[in-house]
Amino acid sequence: MEKFFVCSCNADDRFAPVSMYLMKNHLEEVKAGMKALAGDAKILYLLPENETVEGLEGEVKYAIKSPTLGNPYAVAQVLEGKLPRPMIADGYVAVYDGMEVNVVKPEAAYAKATGKEDCFVAVNKDGLEGKETEIKQVAAGTKLSDIVAASDAKAVLFGGLKGEFVKPRSLAECVIPEGTSSSSVTVFGKESCIVDTVKKIMAMSWEDSCGKCVLCREGTSQFKQITEEMTCGKAKQTDLDLINDVGELIEVGAYCPFGKNMPRPLLSAIALYQDDFMEHIKKKSCSAGVCYKAEAVYVILPDVCTGCGDCIDECDEDAIIGKSKFIHMIDQDMCEQCGKCVSACEESAIVAVEGKLPKLPKKLTKVGKF
Ligand code: SF4
Ligand code: SF4
Ligand code: SF4
Repeated sequence: MEKFFVCSCNADDRFAPVSMYLMKNHLEEVKAGMKALAGDAKILYLLPENETVEGLEGEVKYAIKSPTLGNPYAVAQVLEGKLPRPMIADGYVAVYDGMEVNVVKPEAAYAKATGKEDCFVAVNKDGLEGKETEIKQVAAGTKLSDIVAASDAKAVLFGGLKGEFVKPRSLAECVIPEGTSSSSVTVFGKESCIVDTVKKIMAMSWEDSCGKCVLCREGTSQFKQITEEMTCGKAKQTDLDLINDVGELIEVGAYCPFGKNMPRPLLSAIALYQDDFMEHIKKKSCSAGVCYKAEAVYVILPDVCTGCGDCIDECDEDAIIGKSKFIHMIDQDMCEQCGKCVSACEESAIVAVEGKLPKLPKKLTKVGKF
């Protein structure tokens, strides 16, 4: 069967945008490596949607990003317009357009062309903000303490969505493993809340799960929900045991490397920062001041509202209740706090309130009668 080589730039971990870095900074090496690997076979470059690379030779296609798109079957699926679901059975050959699909990441093409087996490490110095990412090229065995200075940090995540948290004082004990072509080191400053951080990471894993297998699909969903509950006082101490039990099951039973490793940031954070988790769950407080903040709610001031009704159509949630010449009210269970109604009210009767609410009518009341 004819062979087909796909250079997939879509499988990067969110924390390690190495593929597009190589396509934009070392394109000639990547192209030379692809030619050397593919020989006479057809070459296709798979790029994330909204990315462009000038000077590519061969076919170019675009697809969503997904951690599964290093897998030939998942790549064949997206080329056919389907979901990026992988196949990892031994000896399985993925076929697209009558050709055997081989997937190469830009790092491998670069290594082939240059003979350098270095690891490209994305250093994210500002946590999840991703404003300051530097890509460093280092050899296997390099200590994390030689890659980033983080003595003042709260925590460091090594390896992104599939990685582990490390205490800053332990960075010298962690090294880039042999055979790693890309990785990331993400630094969370002293002001960070570790529980809020894992909540956001679990939401990303939930988004990235391709949904093929139950353990990963349901596991990411449960982790997302429980960590959300931890940040707003709804979690229980037994949730920590549940996370550990479910995490172990997923590590053994999930189908692909993404799913198997996805629990690691959460499990390692719980192991290293137990006091922070207990503070959120038992005391229902957050010493970093990130969670449990009083949220502003929108209310209609009863002594200002004229009952004109202009705000009602502005609310997509149907959260505003009222009729002509009656004081309008906002149903807080339905309100999404979008604030759209504020500008619809020429009387400035709709305001955001933090903390104690003003006295509000409990039922529809005629204007001037409250
Ligand atoms: S482990 Fe997750 S990402 Fe991997 S195949 Fe299963 S659902 Fe998809
Ligand atoms: S809140 Fe403003 S826009 Fe809505 S009914 Fe009252 S006065 Fe009219
Ligand atoms: S804040 Fe948004 S959701 Fe809430 S009442 Fe106003 S328009 Fe509706």
